[in-house]
Amino acid sequence: MKYIAFVEQRSGQIKKNGFEVVRASSNLAKETNSEVIAVIIGKNISSLASELGGFGANKVIVIDDARLENYSTTAFASIINQVVKKENGNILFLSATAMGRDLAPRLSVKLNAGLAVDCTSLKNENGKIIATRPVYAGKGLIEVSLTTSVQIFSLRPNVFNAGDSSNEQATIENFTPELNDEDFKVQVVAVETSSGKKDVAESSIIVSGGRGLRESGNFGLVEKLAEVLGAAVGASRAVVDAGWRPHEEQVGQTGKTVSPTLYIAVGISGAVQHLAGMSSSKCIVAINKDKEAPIFSIANYGITGDAFEILPALTSQLKIFFGKS
Ligand code: FAD
Repeated sequence: MKYIAFVEQRSGQIKKNGFEVVRASSNLAKETNSEVIAVIIGKNISSLASELGGFGANKVIVIDDARLENYSTTAFASIINQVVKKENGNILFLSATAMGRDLAPRLSVKLNAGLAVDCTSLKNENGKIIATRPVYAGKGLIEVSLTTSVQIFSLRPNVFNAGDSSNEQATIENFTPELNDEDFKVQVVAVETSSGKKDVAESSIIVSGGRGLRESGNFGLVEKLAEVLGAAVGASRAVVDAGWRPHEEQVGQTGKTVSPTLYIAVGISGAVQHLAGMSSSKCIVAINKDKEAPIFSIANYGITGDAFEILPALTSQLKIFFGKS
């Protein structure tokens, strides 16, 4: 069997979810005696290929092309389709990120492949892959298997452990796909990056704020705590919808899925759609003035009280603790 693992990179750096996809494929491949072929696409990214052997790739196919500097739905889908066909790949793994969610259905059509999205675990049963995926906003879990000859599984980011890199090396192969103007009919025309800000999907500590903070200006309290902890700032959908915070910070079913070491939820009630994105965090601390708030049901530590009193006190104590005062 051949497993193809699509690896996302941004600005010349492999995303954490890229390592997770390769490791998850490799763990299964060991049981099924399969080969893992990682695919990486972009401009000036050839040097990244050598990083993937250490996470379990046997071979890395590199598509390095100046036209692929920015993501293009159509071009990337065309390339991955060509790679899967060229390699006679049986299973394609990618991340259930914004990019993966965009690519997976297109590839499902191109490859006539069954698709299981947002998988949170994978296992092998007699050579068949059984995936677990959440349904009803995480209220339930189902196990699915696919019956098509080519199969696609998108993996929820921050759930599969990439582990540490070993000294293993993969074979590296450059591939020049056939691309014409039609393949670039969907193009990214501008990329806006927020400089210096930590991405919630990549950070090991997150301080998230919700509607309990009353107005956008009060997020300064969340930002100060995040700064002391070296954390990313997250947000509930209520505050994103209100325009207090950008969508890139939203955690939850329609935002990002996170699994940090520490998640601090401030003034967030704990609606099921929010929990769907953060319940796998290693340690959850909830600050809420309502002791009945659902967030407390999944919190490891709960502080019942007013965020406007607790946040400044916590921040100043932590500043002393970290010697930052
Ligand atoms: P609220 O529910 O209003 O909670 C505010 C909390 O703050 C309350 O618990 C209150 O007790 C507390 N509070 C008030 N004042 C203070 C104070 N001074 N100090 C401390 N605590 C205080 N939501 C998401 O977050 N992410 C998603 O991705 C998402 N996707 C959704 C998808 C769908 C299809 C739908 C229908 C909904 C989705 N939602 C999502 C919305 C979700 O249902 C909730 O409406 C939202 O999470 C509520 O945000 P909140 O907890 O900030 O606000």
